[in-house]
Amino acid sequence: MAGTDRRAVRRARRSRPTIFNSALDVERWTFDVFGKHRMKRYLITGASRGIGRAIAEKLAVEDTVLLLHGRDTVALAQTRKAVEPRCAKVILLVHDLAKVSGVSDLIAQVGSGPIDLLVNNAGVAVVKPFTEITPIEWEQTVGVNITAPFLLTQRFVPRMPPGSSVVNILSVAAKTAFPNWSAYCMSKFALEGFSRCVREELRDRKIRVINVYPAATDTEIWDRVEGRWPREKMMSATQVADAVTFALARPTDTLVESIMLSSLAGNL
Ligand code: NAP
Repeated sequence: MAGTDRRAVRRARRSRPTIFNSALDVERWTFDVFGKHRMKRYLITGASRGIGRAIAEKLAVEDTVLLLHGRDTVALAQTRKAVEPRCAKVILLVHDLAKVSGVSDLIAQVGSGPIDLLVNNAGVAVVKPFTEITPIEWEQTVGVNITAPFLLTQRFVPRMPPGSSVVNILSVAAKTAFPNWSAYCMSKFALEGFSRCVREELRDRKIRVINVYPAATDTEIWDRVEGRWPREKMMSATQVADAVTFALARPTDTLVESIMLSSLAGNL
């Protein structure tokens, strides 16, 4: 970008509105200030903390609009603060993905503009013996970990141009059974099956479906898991985000289908 163009972009950023209430507002940021070059739009769910925030930090580059989803507005604002100086625009999407109505509201807020990358990252982990899992916990797991990625993929993929990508943050629990992780494993196994089929449906459209399978990663998800877990043996969220950016940076005709990630410290 030429120097005068950069100055114009900076001026436009300074005068931008900070609150986006409607799909119309969101779509205004599909084009740059000159209305010519279409900016890339990346949507990341669960970007308020952990792996989602780390991915947002890696993907924050010039000419990119980041659509960052979460529920916790304070945490989401922290992510925004970290990435905003490095990208064209940040749009915050605050919705509860456990409910279909929350997913629909997110879709309505994003509007009809193209999406170049969808990262299905938001997730919950209910960890307890299967005899103790409540129907509500089961439903929330299905809602956030399966139904939300299904609906978002179904809705956004038709408007993705060739060369776009869908990234699903799965888990080693999409491949391996662990005692007390039945609800979580169920959801990740299910999302894996869905996304592998979608990958085959999208090859002709040149859209890549990239599945990432991290082992234990040191994030706040573990705060809610009973027991003592050795954080020092876990990977960092940044290591997972590095793997995502590696896969995305391959030439668009190269598909990194699956990335299995573990710490050299070994399994927990
Ligand atoms: P985290 O720090 O707890 O973050 C989870 C994210 O999901 C947050 O942004 C949270 O939003 C969002 N989320 C949870 N419930 C939601 C709901 N009902 N509606 C909308 N958003 C919701 O966990 P993380 O470790 O980064 O996990 C990210 C993904 O990586 C998950 O899919 C997880 O299964 C997967 N994963 C994690 C590990 C690990 O060891 N950490 C390993 C393998 C895979 P708010 O906080 O704003 O509510």
